[in-house]
Amino acid sequence: MSLAELQALEAEHVVPTYLRNPVEFVRGAGCRLWDSDGNEYLDFLAGISVLNVGHCHPRIVETVREQVGRLTHVSNLYYTEPAMKLSARLAESSLGGKVFLCNSGAEANEAAIKLARRARPGGRVVVVQDAFHGRTYGALSATPQESKQAPFAPLVPGFTVVPKDPAALAGAVDDDTAAVLLEPIQGETGIHVLSDELLEAAREACDRTGAVLLFDEIQTGMGRTGTLWGYEQLTVVPDAMTSAKALGGGLPIGALVTGPRLADTLQPGDHGSTFAGGPLIASAALVALEICSDPALLARVQVLGERLAAGLATLPYVTTVRGRGLMLGIDVDPNLAAPDLARRALLEQRVVVNATGPVTIRLEPPLIVTEEEIDEAVARLGALSP
Ligand code: PLP
Repeated sequence: MSLAELQALEAEHVVPTYLRNPVEFVRGAGCRLWDSDGNEYLDFLAGISVLNVGHCHPRIVETVREQVGRLTHVSNLYYTEPAMKLSARLAESSLGGKVFLCNSGAEANEAAIKLARRARPGGRVVVVQDAFHGRTYGALSATPQESKQAPFAPLVPGFTVVPKDPAALAGAVDDDTAAVLLEPIQGETGIHVLSDELLEAAREACDRTGAVLLFDEIQTGMGRTGTLWGYEQLTVVPDAMTSAKALGGGLPIGALVTGPRLADTLQPGDHGSTFAGGPLIASAALVALEICSDPALLARVQVLGERLAAGLATLPYVTTVRGRGLMLGIDVDPNLAAPDLARRALLEQRVVVNATGPVTIRLEPPLIVTEEEIDEAVARLGALSP
């Protein structure tokens, strides 16, 4: 089928929630993608931080091939080894409590909100400006963006939004607060690194009131910032966290991970999901988690992130570079408009990035990217016509 034929099908049959770029990808390997005309692209978005291990990582392919021919689904009424092993590995790699597996980031945050409300019935959830936690109703209610929320009111009650100011956050948390929910680095709204002071204020407020400190590590986790979990580079440890995106090595999965205090808060019948933790995806996630836990890979992410940041800072249209590890955002000359620039990077230079706002472009390459690929991407972005 030609691209025009695909676009015709979309126009007639697909709910128009996405503004797609006019490219059909047919193959991926490592940090590269190929379109239906055989053109090669450098993927510096990784499916929005999903392909941290790269496209079609041989170990993921082999594991999925083997598992798909053996067992794909039995429901959570029975045991399967991949789900139990993945839960153990996730808990051991982070907060040491227990794990609820699900299918996406939004679902993981729904589980986190339910966990906090179960711990403190009726309690409020405090979130900060510019947060993004997903599109389902609970997660959307925690995502204070007018354009995303307003058309779908009324939202879930009991959410309080505060500015990214330590005193404001501390003042909003009291004995009726169930949780403070934060992304250590806000991804969807433009790679905003939350300050240590804000995170410490959240930790102190939760300790003072018994509220649950929840970190949304859906984008910052799985090695993206140079440690397996983003919080490892912070002075603050959450009581529970969510993961998704890169956890499945390219397949859909999400997880809520608790610390010991909250390990048994959710009880039988409190929550569930048909596909959650199915053996096919859990087996892929086990491999992805192992690859992303490799200390050598994580050390490289830090070095490569600095190389990419330094390269981007030399581009004439870049005004700011921010982020951590390989989770980077650049602000560009407002006259050029980030969405237009990202589109031209794709179509003219064959570098895949995306705009998160009018002036910000996000870069999140696979963690297995090489120095040469970073230099090549920077050179291609530098060659963009003004
Ligand atoms: N939380 C964060 C920090 C995210 O970046 C995203 C997705 O971009 C989500 C939640 C929602 O995840 P999903 O799209 O898998 O529902």
